[in-house]
Amino acid sequence: MAVPATGARVVAAAAASNDSARTPPLTTILDLFDRHRSFLLTGHENPDGDCLGAETALFHLLKALGKQAHIVNPDPIGRSFDFLQRHTPFASARAETPLPEFDCAILLDCCQLSRVGHLGQRLQQSGVPIGVIDHHVGSENGDGSVCYVDATAAATGALVRRLFRQLDVPLTPPAAEGVFLSLIADTGWFRYSNADAEVFAMASELVAAGVDVSLIYDSLFRRRHPQSTALLCEALATHRLLLGGRLALAVLDRSLMDRASHIDFDPDEILEPLRSTEGVEVVALCKERFDGTVKVSLRARRDVDVQAIAGVWGGGGHKKAAGATMKMSLAAAAAAVEAEVQRALEAAGG
Ligand code: AMP
Ligand code: MN
Ligand code: MN
Repeated sequence: MAVPATGARVVAAAAASNDSARTPPLTTILDLFDRHRSFLLTGHENPDGDCLGAETALFHLLKALGKQAHIVNPDPIGRSFDFLQRHTPFASARAETPLPEFDCAILLDCCQLSRVGHLGQRLQQSGVPIGVIDHHVGSENGDGSVCYVDATAAATGALVRRLFRQLDVPLTPPAAEGVFLSLIADTGWFRYSNADAEVFAMASELVAAGVDVSLIYDSLFRRRHPQSTALLCEALATHRLLLGGRLALAVLDRSLMDRASHIDFDPDEILEPLRSTEGVEVVALCKERFDGTVKVSLRARRDVDVQAIAGVWGGGGHKKAAGATMKMSLAAAAAAVEAEVQRALEAAGG
């Protein structure tokens, strides 16, 4: 999707994972902050902890720089994230909702306006420059006119933390809480292989800056609706082990998704237990959406590049965690996923 840019496309991206490439120049995105007064911060549909945490941190950074900032997402924030609203205002915009005034938009944790729902089209029509801050593979080729992309970073929130440091702006407790939420969301509470030295070093300074870790854990995981356990069992029970036990495939239909949304149950919870099954190389979760599309979430254990598989349907993400929107029925999506995973497993030599 083309985006009106005020000037040449300016991209800062890390290509490799050595130390100098880990810190691509931040100056282009900081120049963008400098040149504008009023920012709309947004991210992908169904915002997750990284998206919301990075928005929170950037909101407080821009305020500290004397700018106006508004967080407006394509969807409301889930109940488990409402602790963020103690210090940070969040809005969500449907097609007709009036937007605050802004002269620059920043996309966090994604790079395409097509992933920002109706709001994406409105941002494109607004003609303002679009900045992208993201850690997904290839995000420098998205809709940003200015990008700060580092695919070696564990979370988008970590990139915003680097901007604070570059500008010598001290981390306030609300900003630290946002960065911490980003880190735990995208590293699965420091368990995944992307939990690197930067993540642990940041975690230490964030806790020192006042993050209440148990408040975050309790808000996210200890306020479950009484029916959520039954729904968790039902969702897990849909899984099948295919391709000789190397693919765990779960398929959630519209009825289950509807009941999940009513009790704020996040069906992605089943990804981790499925990935822990011995012999499983890839986990695929197909969720039927109300618009007739299917959202697939893919997770890998070792060698299979699920980002490349998601790319078959125009999606993306990371090597070990990726997703896509599939324009087909649930049964067709499940079959297509199985076929692509089989191809990838064969290509990976097994
Ligand atoms: P999810 O399965 O939605 O948790 O996403 C896993 C990873 O893939 C995250 O980093 C997402 O941002 C990314 N992702 C999910 N869906 C898409 C999509 N349709 N296009 C590009 N990236 C995606
Ligand atoms: Mn995300
Ligand atoms: Mn992320």
